[in-house]
Amino acid sequence: MARILVKNGRVWDGKSFFFADVLTNDKLIEKIAPNITDSANYVFDAKKKIVSAGLVDIHVHLKGLASDAFGVGAEISSFPFGVTAVNDAGSVQGDRALLDYLLVKNTVFVCASIRQNHANFDAAEKGLERYGDKAIGIKVYFDKSENVCDITPIKEACAYAKNRNLKVMVHCTLSPTPMVEIVNALSEGDILTHVFHGGENSCLFNNFEALKLAKEKGVILDLGLAGNVHTDFLNFKKSVEAGFLPDVISTDITCLSAFKRGGRYGMTMCMSIAKHLGMGEEDIFKAVTSSAAKSLDKENEWGYLKVGKSADLAVFDYTNEPFDLTDKSGNRVKNDLGYKCILTILDGQIVYKN
Ligand SMILES: [Zn+2]
Repeated sequence: MARILVKNGRVWDGKSFFFADVLTNDKLIEKIAPNITDSANYVFDAKKKIVSAGLVDIHVHLKGLASDAFGVGAEISSFPFGVTAVNDAGSVQGDRALLDYLLVKNTVFVCASIRQNHANFDAAEKGLERYGDKAIGIKVYFDKSENVCDITPIKEACAYAKNRNLKVMVHCTLSPTPMVEIVNALSEGDILTHVFHGGENSCLFNNFEALKLAKEKGVILDLGLAGNVHTDFLNFKKSVEAGFLPDVISTDITCLSAFKRGGRYGMTMCMSIAKHLGMGEEDIFKAVTSSAAKSLDKENEWGYLKVGKSADLAVFDYTNEPFDLTDKSGNRVKNDLGYKCILTILDGQIVYKN
């Protein structure tokens, strides 16, 4: 029964920041308190660092689940960034056995394709069978590039999901309709990803009307940053300035985005960019822990540091960790400082140490 003691850190438990030590015992958190003096197999000094609940990335594309052109290795894209739980958003292959084999904790959203402006659920049906209760939602690609012309396929996807008690995640980066129509079709707890995209009908339209409605309805706004591809950094900045923060920060990491100029792409870079564009530290950590877990209905298992719960945690420094990205509109974000993951613990075991 190994015990790990993380001392002197600024703890983020999913709700607030405070100074404390954290002691694990086997797979669980045993104590969170100041000045813990119990003996441990390993002691880590987290002075001047953040000790957070393990991060939850709700939008990833993993090797073996995503199409072969996109998938990135599950553990290499999560543990070095403090991520201990992921949601594969739009799974098209693999099965329950593969999900159980992965070390990183996981759920999936099956993929509903769109043909001739109608949602098609053939692949989704098969996915729901193959993944069992790990499949908690469907992902729909609502995009002009998929020959979509109006809101019909979203309405069909929402009806399908409601009948099966599934969540809906909508990918939209080039919308044929105002974003507010998408939000209108979604229900509380459904997810709009790439919310600050720079394509047609972006979130800026009509004084952020879509974001306002989403906040009223409880539709979840997911950053889905996607490196320099699906987020317009100026739209993100303007939204933050107007008080419309993303509820969740996710990476949309693929094997294409995993390596980027000025750093290795992952959750910590997304957090660094969010800070660079004006988000506060509390809002950032909420968006990658408790709010992210809640968006997957997993708040009882993931997203919090709590005595008696799984010992999933990570230590972060804000230090010399540069990033330098330019989006499709030519907006550049560049900073020498950024979040860096120093230590990741999953079920009481060290799975990454920098
Ligand atoms: Zn994606």
